[in-house]
Amino acid sequence: MSLPDYETMLDLALSKVKHKASDERFIVPGLQIISTKNKTIIKNLADIAKKIKREPKHILKFLIKKFAARAEILLSSDASFYQQINSGLIREAFSQYLKEYVVCHTCGKYDTVLEKREDFYALKCEACGAERLILR
Ligand SMILES: [Zn+2]
Repeated sequence: MSLPDYETMLDLALSKVKHKASDERFIVPGLQIISTKNKTIIKNLADIAKKIKREPKHILKFLIKKFAARAEILLSSDASFYQQINSGLIREAFSQYLKEYVVCHTCGKYDTVLEKREDFYALKCEACGAERLILR
């Protein structure tokens, strides 16, 4: 074959799109939630934590407090709750987490770092330099 196949062309097209999209707004990937009778699993907690530069444990602690549910992070890096929780409620709680611990309240960007201090966290924005204190 002398012409590139469809997949090669698709790859090329995608790589061009990626370059263009570099200064677009950061989009947080959606949580993949599986809910059964007595378990609720977040499949991609570790991936998302990496993306927003937070510890999976920190996110999970927030959710545990919110739902007063027992939960742990499994070897596969999924998070598992030992009860059924409505996935919509988890998504809602997660967006609260983002507002509280990730998003810069000054410029609205996600390029922030969370520093642990004695009694509080300092949320520093790498985009605009703003700092916000969060009680622990
Ligand atoms: Zn900012």
